[in-house]
Amino acid sequence: MKHNGRQSRRAPSGDAAIALPQDPMPSPSAPPPRVTQAEFVAGASRAEQLPPPKTLEVAFAGRSNVGKSSLMNALLQRKKLVRTSGTPGCTRQISLFEVTTRLGSRLTLVDLPGYGYAKRSHAERREWSELIQGYLLQRPALAALVALVDIRRGLQPEDQQLLELVGSVPTRKRPPVEILMVATKLDKLSGSERRLAVQKLERETSLKWFGFSTELSETHEPLWRALLARLDIDQKRPVAAPPEGGGETEG
Ligand code: GDP
Repeated sequence: MKHNGRQSRRAPSGDAAIALPQDPMPSPSAPPPRVTQAEFVAGASRAEQLPPPKTLEVAFAGRSNVGKSSLMNALLQRKKLVRTSGTPGCTRQISLFEVTTRLGSRLTLVDLPGYGYAKRSHAERREWSELIQGYLLQRPALAALVALVDIRRGLQPEDQQLLELVGSVPTRKRPPVEILMVATKLDKLSGSERRLAVQKLERETSLKWFGFSTELSETHEPLWRALLARLDIDQKRPVAAPPEGGGETEG
């Protein structure tokens, strides 16, 4: 699987590329916020009911109760913007959250309904699968998938199916989707076990994994930064020094 393409990504609407404004003044004390604005913009129980995309989209997926809503709220530094599911498996809609980053770029985080809830009926599973397939294979703005797995459970067959689905040929043309694997609830393991558990997942899948916990704030920023880097959003570009001798380049 290769998901590391660093090509420049453009807004799906076909108009301006996502803006890369200047750095704000660095604050000497508090770390700058990851996002300056985040709001729920739409929800739908069928992929075709979603409004047309306005920005690149990053989808978050995982088994029910994996900690998806908590992770999204932590990344967005909001307490309850993304609703946590009181009853596992009860959220059966796709929700879009439009976000403005600290450097002023815009992107949309997409909360996909959780899977693997044992008490679901056959019809409910089929609905879920149609909804997820409709989104993952048809949405032209989908730029990254953050796949969440509980560190104590490891990768389950449903997680693998999801990765296979997103790796399969989409029904609409779009750039390749970046995959970020995240092991959640890291705090449930002791400090020494955490690293080993993440390394084990990396060995098993040959993919890089990010450890995450709502309780370990030091795990939040690296995931956010990696996500923006994979999307080529808010990346500082070194200013190339003009070549000596008047700008002639060899070619
Ligand atoms: P979702 O169903 O995947 O959206 O999962 P939620 O975000 O609703 O979380 C499910 C449960 O796990 C809730 O009781 C959360 O408080 C808890 N939880 C989520 N993330 C963490 C974490 O990093 N550490 C711990 N200890 N609990 C967590």
